[in-house]
Amino acid sequence: LLEMQHVKKGFGENEVLKDISLSVAEGEVVSIIGPSGSGKSTLLRCATLLEQMDDGSLTYMGEKAAESINGKTVYAKPADLKKIQRHFGLVFQNFNLFPHYSVLKNIIDAPVSVQKRKKEEVVAEAKVLLEKMGLSGREDAYPCQLSGGQQQRVSIARALAMRPEILFFDEPTSALDPELTLEILKVIRELAEEKMTMVIVTHEMNFAKDVSNRMIFMDKGVIVEETTPELLFTSTNQRTREFLGKYH
Ligand code: ATP
Ligand code: MG
Repeated sequence: LLEMQHVKKGFGENEVLKDISLSVAEGEVVSIIGPSGSGKSTLLRCATLLEQMDDGSLTYMGEKAAESINGKTVYAKPADLKKIQRHFGLVFQNFNLFPHYSVLKNIIDAPVSVQKRKKEEVVAEAKVLLEKMGLSGREDAYPCQLSGGQQQRVSIARALAMRPEILFFDEPTSALDPELTLEILKVIRELAEEKMTMVIVTHEMNFAKDVSNRMIFMDKGVIVEETTPELLFTSTNQRTREFLGKYH
């Protein structure tokens, strides 16, 4: 579904991503772990076009079409960007809901105004998603009236309403207390059981171990190891062991 090849990204002198290649197949759950500053968010931001790569390429291969972008090309046409954006959804650490929109409007806004889908159809789908997220009947609430866990579930529903082929999460639970964290992890686990393709940046090691088909350990802008959870957690690589050691 997604292929990133030789991606490089720096900010001034700071080389943040140094030749990163990554591919994700349909139905796979890939977790990315690594120390603070290792480039995990930057990698997701490049994959979701929030940052422009300096070099390398990015290809989304959907059911209907494949779209590529090269680091060296300037993002000229908004129409081309939109085509790429159709492939993925993104869930942030801080929910990023529109505070002045109701829950329902947060969910249906982009499918209706960007994807130009029929409002009635999107509303019906939003209600199904809200039920799935355990939020039936909260359509008219505003984000400030919800707990952090509920807000995060709304933002997952919002991402799913775009019918993405792949869903990215950047530390979806790190702004939440332990109980609310479990709520969100449960939702992500259910999506994994439904074979939703996901890339998850997380510090929840046990969760990552359970839910992932593959795990990536990043450090200082490179992929140090990329393997099954079992092999990563028994790795003999010194950097991997040092990092994982902090979680025991
Ligand atoms: P964390 O676990 O703390 O979220 P991370 O692995 O997500 O860390 P990034 O946020 O990708 O790390 O940051 C990697 C490096 O890039 C850091 O040194 C950071 O200061 C730098 N960086 C990220 N975004 C920018 C930006 N917009 N401008 C300048 N430097 C940036
Ligand atoms: Mg980050």
